[in-house]
Amino acid sequence: MENAWDILNNEYGNPSSLHKKGFLAEKIIVESKKNISSIMGCRSDELIFTSGATESNNIGIFGTALYSRKKTIITSAIEHPSVLQPLKFLETKGYKILKIFPNQNGEFKAEDFISKINEDTFLISTMWVNNETGTILPVEEIARLAKLKDKEILVHCDGVQGFCKMPNLILENIDLFSFSGHKFHSPKGIGGLYIKKNTRLKPIFYGGGQEFGIRSGTENVALIKSLSDTISYTQSNIVNQYNLFEDLNSYTLSKLSTIDELNFNNFGQTVPYIINFSIKNIKSEVLIHFLEEYEIYVSSGSACSKNKDSHVLKAFSIDNKLLKSSIRISFGIYNNFEDIDILAEKIRLATKQILKVK
Ligand code: PLP
Repeated sequence: MENAWDILNNEYGNPSSLHKKGFLAEKIIVESKKNISSIMGCRSDELIFTSGATESNNIGIFGTALYSRKKTIITSAIEHPSVLQPLKFLETKGYKILKIFPNQNGEFKAEDFISKINEDTFLISTMWVNNETGTILPVEEIARLAKLKDKEILVHCDGVQGFCKMPNLILENIDLFSFSGHKFHSPKGIGGLYIKKNTRLKPIFYGGGQEFGIRSGTENVALIKSLSDTISYTQSNIVNQYNLFEDLNSYTLSKLSTIDELNFNNFGQTVPYIINFSIKNIKSEVLIHFLEEYEIYVSSGSACSKNKDSHVLKAFSIDNKLLKSSIRISFGIYNNFEDIDILAEKIRLATKQILKVK
């Protein structure tokens, strides 16, 4: 079977069915899971497919909360809404949510998470890479130190912005790891959750018992196969791609730093494939619409929090003017140096036309 399109056309069987068509569909899932788990360095029964990281994060957070009798969760202040909103809901049910903020240098320190652990803590949920600023959080260190302090504590990582982009995926000490396919060129609507063997969590919805009873519902075979293929593809070239992102990043910084009105919103150690900046007095949406005229598509904040001030930039105590003007560039595998030349040229044009800068 070649690709997702062939599967939609020909392998339309329900993977739970007993007949041959069902068996063939199930085989695609089993093989995809084997492939992804071997790349991730885990067992294939430690991986479930979901519709994406929102679902994975919800399963990880609510699933562990439903199992545990304890009530305290530690998280960072800059998580994606698919982590912060479930936690906000749990707060209304009597859970205590402790949020860790960056230090004055925009860095997150593992000790700040660890020092908050008490006998009521059952979960630490922290992202690997922030989606708006590219800031890297010390997840491995947090997980290792947390287990040293209390081996019962579970560590959940929203790995969306690091998975298949950062060359150093290490799941050791991490119990739950969420990812989403569309961040690395899979179609939207497919992702996964790594759940370390024997992790204590309950399902958050019930049904036919697929995916070890944790994610009931008929699997999307075509999307699962495409997820597996894109993971193979991106992982086979991950170091070269990362090096290219670093070169693109330096080139972008050198080009954009010649624009006087532009301010980089750079906090802590960052990944090369996300750059956040503001041009004072040009609101984010104005620049977004200006650039779209040239088929340059950038974002402000998180795509999921349209029209809201970024809680991420606020956590980094950014100046209010810069907050309203923030723009996020993310590189994909098809970007090249020519794209950066055009981007820089059009941003300069925007400052001329909108701010009337000479
Ligand atoms: N977590 C992070 C860090 C993200 O950037 C995103 C999406 O942009 C998500 C979670 C949610 O992923 P999805 O929309 O695929 O469910």
